[in-house]
Amino acid sequence: MVRVRRIDTQKARAAVRALEVAKENNRSYNMPEVNAALTEMFRGKCYVCENKEGISSFQIEHLIPHRGDVELKYDWNNFFWSCAHCNNIKNDKYDPILDCSQVDVDQKIAFRKRGYFGTEEELEFVALENNIEIENTIQLLHDVYYGSTPQKRLEATNIRRSLRQNLSKFKELIREYEEAQEYEKDDLKYAIRKEIEASAAFAAFKRWLLWDNRERYQELIQFCDLPILN
Ligand SMILES: [Zn+2]
Repeated sequence: MVRVRRIDTQKARAAVRALEVAKENNRSYNMPEVNAALTEMFRGKCYVCENKEGISSFQIEHLIPHRGDVELKYDWNNFFWSCAHCNNIKNDKYDPILDCSQVDVDQKIAFRKRGYFGTEEELEFVALENNIEIENTIQLLHDVYYGSTPQKRLEATNIRRSLRQNLSKFKELIREYEEAQEYEKDDLKYAIRKEIEASAAFAAFKRWLLWDNRERYQELIQFCDLPILN
């Protein structure tokens, strides 16, 4: 989970307007304007698990469960974009969690994948501060990456496979960069930046690979919170 900025765009403004009308008329918030604005904001990535591949169903997610509260139900700032797996697990539990449109989540929690094979492999989420939002967010992350029912465990296996593949590719890219000739480095830097920007799959885990080797990758770390490239 990384910060995804809620930028004031034309699509976001259209979503806010549509939500106001829906609220007045007690209609559904699931409107084309809202879906378009969320797609633009999250770039096809689930904000919880950060997966992008093979997601069959995206869902509108309320960060703070509205439980019928009209303000929360139609507040654009409470709208997030998640895969069905994560939305289903989160439901109205884990409240409150960190708001990734406001907070640099990867500065509050360290994301690491330990080990390579079988039982050795383990995802680790370390709280860098202590509060209830961080605690709940870590519990949610653990449950989405490992699953809580037999079906969810199967879905979680697919997410972890996608994570593993993404991290392998990313490490390969970093090695390539380290061994590259000076004239090749700019292209590789661009490719690395695309891999760690907010819209990239599993950006939190990739950034922590660099942050855990801070001195060695100083010149790449600067790309961790730059605006998204188009
Ligand atoms: Zn997800």
